[in-house]
Amino acid sequence: MIGTPLPADGPRYTTFTGWVDRPTDLTSSLDMTISCDVVVVGGGLGGMATALRLAEGGVDVVLLEADFCGYGASSRNAGQISAKPTGEPQVLAKVNPRLLRDLVRFAASSVRFAEDLIKQLGIDCEYEPVGNVGAAVTKGQMRKAQRDAQALRDAGAQLEVGDQRELGLPDTFLGGLLTPAGGTMNPGLFTLGLRGALLGSGVRVFEQSPVQSVDDLGSGAMVITPQGRVRAKKVVLANNAWAPELAITPHRLSRPVWVNMIETAPVERERIDATGWTSRTGLATKHNVMESYHLTPTNTIAVGVRQLKIGKNPVGERISDPEVVADLTDAFRARFPSLRDVAVTKTWGGWIAMTSSRAPVVGKASKNVYYAIGCNGHGLGQAPYLGSLLADHLTTDQIHEDMMPWWQSENRFPRSMYLHNPVLRAAWLADRIGDRRAGR
Ligand SMILES: Cc1cc2nc3c(=O)[nH]c(=O)nc-3n(C[C@H](O)[C@H](O)[C@H](O)COP(=O)(O)OP(=O)(O)OC[C@H]3O[C@@H](n4cnc5c(N)ncnc54)[C@H](O)[C@@H]3O)c2cc1C
Repeated sequence: MIGTPLPADGPRYTTFTGWVDRPTDLTSSLDMTISCDVVVVGGGLGGMATALRLAEGGVDVVLLEADFCGYGASSRNAGQISAKPTGEPQVLAKVNPRLLRDLVRFAASSVRFAEDLIKQLGIDCEYEPVGNVGAAVTKGQMRKAQRDAQALRDAGAQLEVGDQRELGLPDTFLGGLLTPAGGTMNPGLFTLGLRGALLGSGVRVFEQSPVQSVDDLGSGAMVITPQGRVRAKKVVLANNAWAPELAITPHRLSRPVWVNMIETAPVERERIDATGWTSRTGLATKHNVMESYHLTPTNTIAVGVRQLKIGKNPVGERISDPEVVADLTDAFRARFPSLRDVAVTKTWGGWIAMTSSRAPVVGKASKNVYYAIGCNGHGLGQAPYLGSLLADHLTTDQIHEDMMPWWQSENRFPRSMYLHNPVLRAAWLADRIGDRRAGR
């Protein structure tokens, strides 16, 4: 058993998310044969942004969603939108500096895209543009933050390095690397806001319509659901962690990884200020497997990750692992010792699609079937941006420079070195040993 045992009156476990309730106005499921220009499979931020962009360009679009739009990771995530790119900057700076520059540019553009979407659609999602800090808990992590900052600056990133006081961080942190672009939001409100815009657009949306197969017919494609079918010129797969469940998806495209969240009861503002967290920035620690901390407008604290669990497709509904909930609770109490009495009230989790490169993948599964998948843990801004870039490609045949690095012309996906539960477990253990040595 890892972590402290959970009290009997512990957090409420939910199979959806703690950020919002399920919508009650679900659209009807597909129960006939129809035709259109493009079918989008999956109604997360990625699929919805793809469909909306295509419809704006006058394309006749059908979106098919297995449950309801927003059911997946898009409504469940930690709500931290950051211009910090995925991956290890120092390694990339040595082996592939061009890729690092591409990652930096893509991450920054994604934040701007999501901010514009929020503004244009008037979505009230409690967005606070406070930036995010890669926060150091140990001296080793602080040194890493400084070296990462150098590599990222050389690649064009805008960021600042500072100590705990300079960055207004909780006083158990030593300092870190602030990426000022981006901030925190309620991702459930963002996603359901996008759903509202989608339902009010010209896109024909069928929820409760799980796609069972996609067949490329050469002259177009046929998409089959339990009670209906759609004949389309083109199909876009935006079903993220579920992608490997369709036979047409390229082999080893991604693996489903389960990520847990907990949220505390509201904390009095004076007590938050007394911890030193005056900047209210989003925090992601510089452990091998990060801990994330998001201070919401009601002063609850949403805490995420620390452990990643690789699953197997088909993936189903799931609640958080009690062992990980206890571990996240331990993390919260270690980083906020003065808030030890604050109760953890909710917990949930979600499936993300992780790729062996840790970068998104976009391309063609066959002549008429496209995919945009695998924004890993960065999809809050990146999934809708990538979806809109793919939509533009479908209407213009151009590949935007921000999409080019992720375009897969060969559909060859190597085995991953790190996507194995024992490797992730070892990373977690190394993090705990590092914490203990540093007295954290
Ligand atoms: C706990 C957690 C914390 C995270 N924290 C952050 C964060 O702080 N910042 C950040 O940027 N990112 C974060 N992420 C990652 C981010 O949420 C994802 O990268 C992003 O939401 C992916 O969007 P998507 O549209 O590709 O996938 P999803 O939102 O998962 O959507 C896929 C949709 O496809 C549907 N579907 C599946 N199969 C079928 C089928 N056969 N037919 C029809 N529909 C189907 C699903 O029901 C689902 O609605 C986090 C993720 C999790 C789970």
